[in-house]
Amino acid sequence: MWPGILKRFSFKSKPKLTACGSKVQLDKGGGNYMEEATATGQLTENDHRPKDSEAAIEKYHGRVSKITDIKDLAGRQREKSWFAQDRDQSTPTNVEHLYAYSDLRILHIELSTDCNALCPQCARTEAGACVNRTLKISHLSLEDVKLLLPHAFLKQLKKVFLCGNYGYPGMAPDCLAVVQYLCESNPKMKVGIHTNGGMRTASFWSDLGALMPSPNYCRFAIDGLQDTNHLYRQRVSWKKLMRNIEAFIAAGGRAEWDFLIFEHNEHQVDEARELAETLGCSRFQAKSTSRFLNRQTGEVRDAYEVKTKEAGVSHLLRPPSTPEHRNEALVQDIPRVLQQYGNMDTYFDAVQVDKCSCQAAKDHQAYISAERLVLPCCWLAGHVYDRMGEDKRQLLPLLAKEGLTLDDIRITPERSLHHIIEGPLFQWLVTDSWKLPSMQEGKLRTCAMTCGKDVSSFSKRFLKTDTVNISRESGSQ
Ligand code: SF4
Ligand code: SF4
Repeated sequence: MWPGILKRFSFKSKPKLTACGSKVQLDKGGGNYMEEATATGQLTENDHRPKDSEAAIEKYHGRVSKITDIKDLAGRQREKSWFAQDRDQSTPTNVEHLYAYSDLRILHIELSTDCNALCPQCARTEAGACVNRTLKISHLSLEDVKLLLPHAFLKQLKKVFLCGNYGYPGMAPDCLAVVQYLCESNPKMKVGIHTNGGMRTASFWSDLGALMPSPNYCRFAIDGLQDTNHLYRQRVSWKKLMRNIEAFIAAGGRAEWDFLIFEHNEHQVDEARELAETLGCSRFQAKSTSRFLNRQTGEVRDAYEVKTKEAGVSHLLRPPSTPEHRNEALVQDIPRVLQQYGNMDTYFDAVQVDKCSCQAAKDHQAYISAERLVLPCCWLAGHVYDRMGEDKRQLLPLLAKEGLTLDDIRITPERSLHHIIEGPLFQWLVTDSWKLPSMQEGKLRTCAMTCGKDVSSFSKRFLKTDTVNISRESGSQ
């Protein structure tokens, strides 16, 4: 348990958590404590008494190790001003949190870091030549998901989508069982799954379609047609992809088609949209990529070399040539920013990031990686296997400010999602970093780049004119 929970949820009157040697004493709390306790159904009236407070925490969390955590944290308080003197314990509002655990509504889960494909601009590959050599292949099992997301917790969510930074859920051995668990735990919650469609058998896709009827959805990333899709989605067999999407739709699944536009496929957008309709897709979305942007310099590359294993170049990727297919942020916003600020780093230092611009805060959304790490968003999680190099990784120093490591944001039987969301990363580290004057001093580059108020290449990647809700989905499905 983090002190934040005690401050924010457990007490109505002024809370007091004091460290004395290795012992922690928890002062008597007020009504909120009992409200929370009653809501869990695990505490009794007697737990309200101060002398029973450790036992109360133990009952509330059900694990002695949580109390050990509190002792550890209380010990750190003396050295690291953990949660006390410089933060008014009785007034948690001075801590600007992303959101409280009880307000979490959307989860993005990476069920697997494995993938059948080798897309050149994906973080899991080294320019399409091979798999990122620092990446560990991990999957979340059904048992893991039950531990991460207990049945009762899923009731508070509006949406769970299975996608990820490094792989796709279809590669996880327990994919079907996990989808079934999610759909059954909260039938009102929307479940989404993302894929390139090239893995597994037709019967897998048929079972998946039957498990998740509309409004649940599966979003297929298909960047072109038979003669072009593989130029980006390397190793995806068109024949298997078509077989799988047909099986999914025939079994009652709602399929959506996402089309990433490059120069080599931009002439096929209309034809792909027609094929989406013929197949029975419910939605077609053409997207303009921002991956030709060099985020260090602001330069927009006109070509990207796809590498071979032997360090040669297999082919070039180019951004679309027609202005209407280009990412608006790259065409308009980046040149304006460079003119105004001189370079990207000066812009990142200056740009405002706050809870109105943070996508995770706005959506009350969190990300769980296949290694059970909990972060506000997939963008920050991208730091974990950043192949750009150590100096670009700000996550570890950010956690180290509170004496934490990645293990402190990893869900285990002893450390729940609740515990992590109410911990320093979500409660103040990220938001505090936005107020720092420069990246040098710890302002998060990823936040400035992704959610800065001037340029959002990510939000501008969707081409509104190329989003089609195909009529059948607004009808009976
Ligand atoms: S299909 Fe997705 S996860 Fe797989 S390599 Fe391509 S972008 Fe990465
Ligand atoms: S990158 Fe930063 S600002 Fe954007 S959603 Fe993630 S945490 Fe929020």
